[in-house]
Amino acid sequence: MKKEIWVYLETSPDDRLYAGTKDLLAQAGAIAQLLRGAVLNGKGGSAAGEDIGLRGILTGAEAGRLEDAALEAVLYGAREVTVIEGKELETFSPECCSDAFAQLLKKTRRKPELILFGRSPDAMDLAPALAARLDAGMLSDCVGAVPGPEGILWERHAFGGSAVSFVRFREGKTPIISVRPGSFGGKAGAGVPCLRTPAEAAAVPVTRFGYQPDRVIARPSLIRVLESAREQGTDIGSADVIVAGGNGAGPEGFALIRELAGLLHGAVGASRIAVDKGWAPHSQLIGQSGKTVAPRLYINCGISGSVQHIVGMRDAACVVSVNTDPRALIFNVSDYGIVGDLHRVLPELIREIRSSRG
Ligand SMILES: Cc1cc2nc3c(=O)[nH]c(=O)nc-3n(C[C@H](O)[C@H](O)[C@H](O)COP(=O)(O)OP(=O)(O)OC[C@H]3O[C@@H](n4cnc5c(N)ncnc54)[C@H](O)[C@@H]3O)c2cc1C
Repeated sequence: MKKEIWVYLETSPDDRLYAGTKDLLAQAGAIAQLLRGAVLNGKGGSAAGEDIGLRGILTGAEAGRLEDAALEAVLYGAREVTVIEGKELETFSPECCSDAFAQLLKKTRRKPELILFGRSPDAMDLAPALAARLDAGMLSDCVGAVPGPEGILWERHAFGGSAVSFVRFREGKTPIISVRPGSFGGKAGAGVPCLRTPAEAAAVPVTRFGYQPDRVIARPSLIRVLESAREQGTDIGSADVIVAGGNGAGPEGFALIRELAGLLHGAVGASRIAVDKGWAPHSQLIGQSGKTVAPRLYINCGISGSVQHIVGMRDAACVVSVNTDPRALIFNVSDYGIVGDLHRVLPELIREIRSSRG
């Protein structure tokens, strides 16, 4: 049987792949290369040179609605796609989804090298549920890996990166790993490149697996979706430019932040306090309890630089910070710092950009 890494694919309400899932596929490709290298170096017990392909796994009530997403997954690196179809999968629930995954593994008798998840709220629910269901090991928020004499060592950071641990899985069970966006050479913010043409992708096999629970599944976490709110503006997960505001911004500051983001064709981000105060929606939260971003330009205004915020933005290529306090911690991770009141700095910046464009 061919060696495979399975990748959990997530779709938006209009049944397209999320940008974060495309990033995950790119990371999975890098991990496949790494595993293959480890195998070639004699670890892993596999035949030298053996290829490791990516299988994307989609779940939903109607496989027909997921055809475009399956095609996208192939464009972005999946070699094959399996759609698990079942009416219980209409709304996400970790109980049903983990049961469906377990059934797919059992009935197809497959044993992937790894099962990979992103860092979305659903993935963070599903990965540990599946690990518990399969009695397998699980590592969350993995940021890297190195081949060691006893096998691959998977890297994880704690306490905002001040502690690093390396984890090795026992042989025998399929490891389950959730990956931090932008790790393994992924591109959380900037566009992920397509690896195939649509014509090549159309030739790739997409298989359907019908899921029916063979036991009663308690669904304590079932959420009934009454209305799904569309995200405002550009998604911060895939934006090249982010202008973010914090507690120092206030509602007027956020109006300026939105204006600047619009001028730069970027997205609006926020710190936790700004979200808690209702100045920005939760989908724009950056940091430990929000999204991890890696834009080319990250302009932040009135954000102090707590460790919980910095873990979400430190992979930005260029950081510009505006803060009245010259000792603010955010300046330690900034390429450019402006000590000043954002209510004065941002209008100047906006005026300059407008006048430079004529
Ligand atoms: C478990 C846990 C998870 C968390 N997760 C997150 C997370 O995901 N993301 C996150 O951001 N936080 C998170 N937090 C909260 C975090 O600890 C901080 O409280 C938060 O990041 C601070 O937000 P802030 O920088 O906007 O506000 P503050 O710390 O209050 O900083 C405001 C800054 O604005 C500056 N300022 C004030 N007025 C102006 C002005 N007019 N012009 C320019 N600058 C000005 C001030 O000098 C100050 O530096 C978490 C906390 C916990 C405990």
